[in-house]
Amino acid sequence: MKFKPTGPVATIKPYEAGKPLKALEREFKIHSAVKLASNENPLGFSPKVTDAVVKSLPGMNRYPEPVAHDLCRELADFYRVAPENIVLGNGSDDLIALLAHAYLNSGDKALMPLPSFLMYEISVKTAKGTPVMIPLAGFDTDLAKIAQNISPDTKMVFITNPFNPTGSIVARDEFAVFAGSIPSDVLIVVDEAYMEFVRDPDVYNSLEHPLQDPRIVTLRTFSKAYGLAGFRIGYGIMDTEVAQILNRIRQPFNVNGLAQAAAQAALADQTFLQKSIDTIHQGIDFLMNQLSDMGFDPLPTQANFLMVDVKTDATQLFTRLLSHGVIVRSMKSYGFDTFLRINAGTPEENQAFITALKAVLSQTL
Ligand SMILES: *Cc1c(COP(=O)(O)O)cnc(C)c1O
Repeated sequence: MKFKPTGPVATIKPYEAGKPLKALEREFKIHSAVKLASNENPLGFSPKVTDAVVKSLPGMNRYPEPVAHDLCRELADFYRVAPENIVLGNGSDDLIALLAHAYLNSGDKALMPLPSFLMYEISVKTAKGTPVMIPLAGFDTDLAKIAQNISPDTKMVFITNPFNPTGSIVARDEFAVFAGSIPSDVLIVVDEAYMEFVRDPDVYNSLEHPLQDPRIVTLRTFSKAYGLAGFRIGYGIMDTEVAQILNRIRQPFNVNGLAQAAAQAALADQTFLQKSIDTIHQGIDFLMNQLSDMGFDPLPTQANFLMVDVKTDATQLFTRLLSHGVIVRSMKSYGFDTFLRINAGTPEENQAFITALKAVLSQTL
């Protein structure tokens, strides 16, 4: 090829997204496939979102607000911070990329767990930085190892809490020790995409006391608990100086007008959010019980998904589940060769997964 990138960009592997429903339905010529692979909200989103989006449609010949004034105000009130502490993104993926581009120069290091959400590595490399991957301790983030690996050229660390894909959490006291061992000029990016689902009261939630530490950047998203994955909107809460930098380098219209309207309506409907969370919790409990009854040992989880060792090649099992119309995620590319990740769906979807799994496993015998 004539235009070959060199440096870190040349080593980026393509992002593997969960298989889209429509692709499966096309391939297997089926209608009602079940997708439990991308940690989406099975209930969809609040009906108030639909109303707000429909209402905002006629204005879509105009550019959106470059700073979504009302949404930032509403998020600020919700978390008891100032609008100046909020940066919106085209999904929190956008914010991850903005942080990497703003704070990494060629050769600067960003530390992250291995395996991690792939966008950290992709964004760091795209910014010409060097990702340093710190293996998990079992299924937990190895905070002590991350702290030990900080060097003078480390500019940021990524912590995912709860952790994707294992569902484990960093506790409040663990985080305090960790933060105490990190130099004052290293950004601590805490990705809390799944925080809404956590039931463990000991979890470290950076927005319990927001902005106490100027190094901490919290990332949240409307994609998971609020059900707006397709709209693409996430937000970061951070020190005003960091927010100013990100706002300076982001595309002025990075969050489209429909997404802004959708997010405002979703945030305002906390009743729907609670219903979603309750459904997910019931789903997780059901899946845990069923898998345990089948003799498996699913990992404890604080997120809307769980990981389970299926004691056989996970990608083969994934493919056979596909032929039964169920999409889950093989964790082979994350280095867990015999693990699946399944997110909680509606009761019907959860049952469909268990039924398909039993069918597939009985064929093996
Ligand atoms: C899903 C997810 C996100 C959210 O991504 P969006 O771009 O906001 O849709 C961020 N971090 C992790 C770890 C995730 O799993």
